[in-house]
Amino acid sequence: MSLDLAAVRALDASDPLRAFRDRFDLPDGVIYMDGNSLGPLPRTARAALTRAVDDEWGRGLIRSWNDAGWIDAPRRVGDRIAGLIGASPGEVVVADSTSVNLFKLAAAAVGARPGRRVILTEAGNFPTDLYIAQGLAAVLPAVQVRAVPADEIAAHLGPDVALLQLSHVHYKSARRHDMAALTTAAQAAGALTLWDLSHSAGAIEVDLNGCNADLAVGCGYKFLNGGPGAPAFLFVAARHQARLVSPLAGWMGHAAPFDFVDEYRPAPGVERFLCGTPSILALTALEAGVEIAAAVDAQALAAKAKRLIGLFITEVEARCPTLTLASPRHGPRGSHVSFAHPEGYRIMRALIARGLIGDFREPDILRFGITPLYLGYEDVWRAAQLIQQVLDAEAWRDESVRQAGRVT
Ligand SMILES: *Cc1c(COP(=O)(O)O)cnc(C)c1O
Repeated sequence: MSLDLAAVRALDASDPLRAFRDRFDLPDGVIYMDGNSLGPLPRTARAALTRAVDDEWGRGLIRSWNDAGWIDAPRRVGDRIAGLIGASPGEVVVADSTSVNLFKLAAAAVGARPGRRVILTEAGNFPTDLYIAQGLAAVLPAVQVRAVPADEIAAHLGPDVALLQLSHVHYKSARRHDMAALTTAAQAAGALTLWDLSHSAGAIEVDLNGCNADLAVGCGYKFLNGGPGAPAFLFVAARHQARLVSPLAGWMGHAAPFDFVDEYRPAPGVERFLCGTPSILALTALEAGVEIAAAVDAQALAAKAKRLIGLFITEVEARCPTLTLASPRHGPRGSHVSFAHPEGYRIMRALIARGLIGDFREPDILRFGITPLYLGYEDVWRAAQLIQQVLDAEAWRDESVRQAGRVT
């Protein structure tokens, strides 16, 4: 049943997370439903960047590595992220990109399981997750990548599997894997697990240690609102830290980087998975985003996400019969909603031109991020109306077809 304007405004008026909207600098006239791809600008990030540029870099110069805490930033922000994903302090660092972190941890995992050669993953996983595994197999010819459909993963956990590497939430469908059950099954088969939390961290409840997870990576610029190309994070369970070794033995992962000795000796803790000098301006912006996420009550976030998702799906299905839901309606899921339509690309172009920003994924998926920190009930209700208008008027026919090479 569709709700009216008064009803959605009443939901917004009683929303305990309503005040978080003001922490973000969002343009007027836009309904932003792409926070699953690039989170918006936290107001505190602008001030923090100004301070980092003017005071720390401009006046502090090289002294700021110590005086402004730059050298501790990967671990400091990592500890903050740990609190969002069910990890303990000292199990997470911020470093590099998600892609590079996948490589480091997958290589370390394979090295810790001699005699086993398979990296098991899901067919249709996010491309970089597959490509990095394929690239690792190219440098370590004994390694083999096996990508199977989601419902066949457990059946492939045999004695040859070194690593089960999965995205917790699927980037297209938003379907969520059962982290606890698959981790238990993988470990029972003698394999390690590597979870990609790019669509989970900051979006849904994650309990890495509650699931006894081994390894994880995740993205800073999506639901953590860390800015375009923000550094990523990685998790290594404390019990593995002394044994797993990074294949990228950079000086920042050394036990004593400023001793400048010739022989590599890894740091005792998770810092051994650092590689080179961290990007401090990028970390500064990420820290501002992570601080907002750390201030949110996880249960309130989950409850609001569920209601927003339910409202959005109900309204779109009632108004737009030509769209097909391509996400779980209930049950284990992340925080975006996908619909399929053969003209998905042009429909999304038309929506963006009208101020509703989502994104398109090949071949026919319209993706809408549900981010309870800055989206309200009226926003998703109006979004459904805009989608209906574009479809009813066939307004997408004015849009050009997809051009190769453009970010979509
Ligand atoms: C967004 C995303 C990435 C991004 O990787 P980058 O190295 O930041 O480009 C990786 N994996 C998944 C599952 C993602 O959704």
